[in-house]
Amino acid sequence: MFMLSNRILTQIIIAVSEITPLVRQNILSLKPYSCARDEFKGEAEAYLDANENPLNYPYNRYPDPLQWTVKERIAAIKGIHPGQVFLGNGSDEAIDLVFRVFCEPRQDNVVAIDPTYGMYQVSADINDVEYRKVRLNADYSLDAQRVLDAADENTKAIFLCSPNNPTANLLNRKEMLKIVHGFKGITVIDEAYIDFSSEPSWLNELQKYPRLIVLQTFSKAWGLAGVRLGMAFASEEIIDLYNKVKYPYNINVLTQRLVLDELEQVDRKAEWVSLLLKERKRLIDSLSKMEMVQEVFPTDANFVLVRVADANAVYRYLVTKSIIVRNRNTVTLCEGCLRITVGVETENDLLLKALEEYNA
Ligand SMILES: *Cc1c(COP(=O)(O)O)cnc(C)c1O
Repeated sequence: MFMLSNRILTQIIIAVSEITPLVRQNILSLKPYSCARDEFKGEAEAYLDANENPLNYPYNRYPDPLQWTVKERIAAIKGIHPGQVFLGNGSDEAIDLVFRVFCEPRQDNVVAIDPTYGMYQVSADINDVEYRKVRLNADYSLDAQRVLDAADENTKAIFLCSPNNPTANLLNRKEMLKIVHGFKGITVIDEAYIDFSSEPSWLNELQKYPRLIVLQTFSKAWGLAGVRLGMAFASEEIIDLYNKVKYPYNINVLTQRLVLDELEQVDRKAEWVSLLLKERKRLIDSLSKMEMVQEVFPTDANFVLVRVADANAVYRYLVTKSIIVRNRNTVTLCEGCLRITVGVETENDLLLKALEEYNA
C-alpha cells in the first residue's frame, strides 16, 4: 500500500494552508511548553504531577491552560465552535499575539486606520514591527483602497476597529469587506463596543474567512474591566497558533470561575446595554442643544465624541468640577474633541449641569 511519509504530509498541509506562509518561522518550528495538565487529562485520585501544594483547594491547583469550560459556554452564546475561541489577559494579550505569531521584527509591518485604539501601535513598537497609519476620511469613514495601498508583501496584518475608538462610529461594512476579501494577510476586526452597536458582529462571517481575527472583550458591556478577560475568535488554525505561543496558564482560576458565573447572567448584560443606550441618547440630545458644543459625532459605542471650541479649557474646567472625560484634542482628526463615556443617570446629569454652567 502507498503511504505518505509524515514529512510529505506536513508539506502538503503547509501548501494548502493560507495561514502557514504568514507565520514566523520560529513559531512554526516552536515546540511549545508542555505542562502537567496537558499530559494527563482525566480524573485521578491523587495529583502528584505538578508540584502543587495539596492543601488550600481550589486555589492550590493550576488552572485549565485552555479554559475549556469557559470557552464552551462562550462558544454556545456566540454560536461558534469552542476551538475558535482564545481567551487572554484583556484584549491586549490577543493584540500582542498578532505580532508575536505573525510579525518578524524589523522586517514585517502592519497597517492600521488612524485614529484608532492606541494599543495596536504600542504592541507594534514593543515587538519592533513597523506600524503604518492610514488616515480615515474627515468624517471618520473608511477608505479601504487607501488601506490596501499602504500594504506591501511584508504586511502581515491590518487592524480595523468597529465601532472605532475614539471616533465612536461603525466602519462601513462594504469597505471593510474589500479588505477582508482583498488582503492576503490577517485582518483583525476589534469589536470591543459591538454590544452597543446597531450592526451585527463579524463573528457570523468567521467560517468564510480563515484569515480573520475578531476581538471582543468582557471589559465594556459585560462590566468586567477589572477582571481582565479578552476574547479572540478565528479559524482553529489561528487559535492553535495562539495557544502554542501564549503563557501556559494565562487565565487564572479566579477569573475562570467568576466569568462562568457572569456568563449565566446574559439578561443582566442586555439590561445594562439598553439602559446605557437610553442614557447615550439623552446625552446626545442634550449635548447637541448646547451652544458650546460644535459637533456631536454619531456613535455606536458606549461613549460620545464631541467637538468644542477649546477642548483643553473644557477638560480642565470639568476636572475642577470633579468630572473626568478623555481629552482627545491632540489625536489625528480629533482636534477640539472630548471623548465622554456614558455613565449612569446621576453622572450624566452632573456632566450636563456642569457644561450648562460653563461660561454661564
Ligand atoms: C476598551 C477597548 C478594548 C478592551 O481592552 P481590554 O484589554 O480587553 O480591556 C479593546 N479594544 C478597544 C478598541 C477598546 O476601546
